[in-house]
Amino acid sequence: MNMFDKIAIIGLGLIGSSIAHAARRGGLAKEIAGHDASPDVLDRAGKLGFCDTLHADIGDCVADAPLVILCTPVGAYKQLAQQIAPGLAKGAILSDVGSVKGAVIRDVGPFVPQDVHFIPAHPIAGTEFSGPEAGFASLFDGRWTILTPVPGSDSRAVEKLKAFWQGLGSQVDVMEWSHHDLVLAITSHLPHLIAYNIVGTAHDLEKVTEGEVIKYSASGFRDFTRIAASDPTMWRDIFLNNRDAVLEVLGRFNEDLAVLQRAVRNGDGQLLFDFFTRNRAIRKAIIEQGQDTAEPNFGRKS
Ligand code: NAP
Repeated sequence: MNMFDKIAIIGLGLIGSSIAHAARRGGLAKEIAGHDASPDVLDRAGKLGFCDTLHADIGDCVADAPLVILCTPVGAYKQLAQQIAPGLAKGAILSDVGSVKGAVIRDVGPFVPQDVHFIPAHPIAGTEFSGPEAGFASLFDGRWTILTPVPGSDSRAVEKLKAFWQGLGSQVDVMEWSHHDLVLAITSHLPHLIAYNIVGTAHDLEKVTEGEVIKYSASGFRDFTRIAASDPTMWRDIFLNNRDAVLEVLGRFNEDLAVLQRAVRNGDGQLLFDFFTRNRAIRKAIIEQGQDTAEPNFGRKS
């Protein structure tokens, strides 16, 4: 049985199109409606066929939809919330997939009508690819989605959104937005900052090494380039909108890095060995909890 008569997806890139694919696979909605600001994306989405209806007009997309999900970069949310607020159906759930949650509550919250349930969400699933062609139905299978309801949220609406994400294949956790933003700063935002930075440093060195960075990339560098291939708009918006938590974990990271730097300088092999041994266990735990594979090259084809 369909969980929702209509779901409206705003932004038809990797995450928006994957929600549409997975919702169709799970039979979760009678109508999957999509909107994107880009006529080209709408055209491509039409050819791919993952939505039942496509709307150049965002008001038409959200009209009568009991579930509306913002799937654009978070920098666009405020303007989108202003635009759609008057047309949201009474009793609808308004949610999102943004990678930061405090800023989303700050930007969207003030525009949400009294009779609409605003429940921010973040699927911890993705790839380095963007656009409607990048989406696929199994993206959320076995991954976690975090809901960060605002105080006073209707518990039935939270349960309904939880069931929706489970229907998409995900496991679901509920937590406070501030905790989410700190956890994601260390598990996602800092790694991306480091990856962008190391690729930038290597790019500068490339002038000296003449092609060897690329040639010998399989020795570790390549894994950073995959992360650093992620969408620049999305990542710019994440760092602009999770500044405090990112600066907090970056400060700790720099302190720890200084300890390793001193150990290398001093030839302190014991410190390095103990540090590497302790942290190697984290990889084992990630595999045991089904969040990655033990296959060579992380099971990736290239
Ligand atoms: P994406 O593939 O770049 O898709 C975003 C889509 O939104 C694009 O088609 C973009 O069109 C469109 N868009 C931009 N501004 C818009 C506006 N004002 N109105 C309507 N459509 C607009 O990005 P994504 O990877 O799906 O990420 C979307 C959201 O998911 C972000 O908030 C991100 O934080 C979150 N998220 C991403 C991942 C990940 O791994 N990628 C994981 C979890 C959560 P144009 O291309 O023409 O700008």
